[in-house]
Amino acid sequence: MQSILQCMDCDRQYPVDQVAYTCITCGGLLDVQHDLHGLRKSVSRDTFDQRLGSLEPPCNSGVWRYRELIYPDLADDQIFTRPEGNTNLYPSPKLAAWAGLGKLWL
Ligand SMILES: [Zn+2]
Repeated sequence: MQSILQCMDCDRQYPVDQVAYTCITCGGLLDVQHDLHGLRKSVSRDTFDQRLGSLEPPCNSGVWRYRELIYPDLADDQIFTRPEGNTNLYPSPKLAAWAGLGKLWL
């Protein structure tokens, strides 16, 4: 599967693993383009539905459950997740102390 970064203004393409947000030619914003035709052959809505409720990372994330739509070429061991997207609460003791609270969850 091939993904690329593509300038939204002049269509110049860049490797997806390049850290860049704007086009060096025209300054336009870069958009991530995935091979969605190829993606349809390997995943389906059932794939994402089966991951719902998973307790194992990265599928326990409401974002990374759809990882093929985010970054299909990224290996699972390269994904860092805090189960984002599932609206979990996390204690934030430093912020709680700053705010003068005994406990604070974000
Ligand atoms: Zn451009």
